[in-house]
Amino acid sequence: MPCPDCRLILVATLNEKWGGWNAKTRRHDFSGIEANLSGLQCPPHVLFMSECTRYNDFEREAFYKMLALLDALPAGTDPEGQPVGQGIYDGMLSKGPFLVHGPGVFYSRPTVRPRGWHDPDDQLVREVPANSLNVEIAGRKLTLKAVHVSGRHGAVGFDAQFSLLGKFAEHPVLAGGDMNMCPTQENNPGYPMDLAREFDDNGTPWQRSTKGIPAADGTWPPYTASYDALLDHGYLDAALLAGNHTPTVNPRHGGDAWMPIDRLIVSRQAPVRFVPSTYRVHPEKSHSDHYMVSCWARVACAKHEQSDADTAELDFAV
Ligand SMILES: [Zn+2]
Repeated sequence: MPCPDCRLILVATLNEKWGGWNAKTRRHDFSGIEANLSGLQCPPHVLFMSECTRYNDFEREAFYKMLALLDALPAGTDPEGQPVGQGIYDGMLSKGPFLVHGPGVFYSRPTVRPRGWHDPDDQLVREVPANSLNVEIAGRKLTLKAVHVSGRHGAVGFDAQFSLLGKFAEHPVLAGGDMNMCPTQENNPGYPMDLAREFDDNGTPWQRSTKGIPAADGTWPPYTASYDALLDHGYLDAALLAGNHTPTVNPRHGGDAWMPIDRLIVSRQAPVRFVPSTYRVHPEKSHSDHYMVSCWARVACAKHEQSDADTAELDFAV
């Protein structure tokens, strides 16, 4: 019998291109997002969306449509067979002068109770917690952060962004999104060893530094050391815990296609641990350049204070 106070939550990250914005029709098309979310076994408790590009425009019409779409997702069950009802969703959109594709986090009430938003426009909000959302789940305090790491400043930019996110591990953080980088990879057959060759073949040599770092032998391997270093600050990575190296970028979209760059992480300070056996890279459901990733996580109630374990199990017995 699972503890009635601990909570299993479904966490997902989806990078639908431009959040469904179609530059030709100049309308949002949510059918791809809907198709992806229908692959989940129940409405997600936390959804990170890496590209909510124009959700703040047009009097936030797309943002509210997104909430309505989430509200309408049918009820389902969790992996322990317990029912999960329809959600009542709310969300927060990140903002910043250089965040072209500002990410957003959507969450299902009443499981997730919002407490406060670290607004980057507030002069009292520091750079590390900016664009994060404090919530309460199972009576435990947690901070959610949607991420879309940019490769535009190359290795220096990766170091800077992952250092900021690394520093944030001081807090109980659950984060996810398009990291544009992955851990150092083995057992991933298509994984690019030389991005220079991949990008040059695409006719886009200027993309080299968006994921690569120049090596002494003239190749441009992916700068994975930056992501490894992020985890060293005190994060647990769902795919790594699962031993899963499945790429999350659609191979039809270019040379970095074999990198699993959409990731879910939780700080060791958080009363939350992923259940690795439930980690999924979902099949292609839309024309987007990314696949959706999801994993269940257990939020420990105050009575079941998190142990030193890196993972949680299903069928957790009281
Ligand atoms: Zn409990």
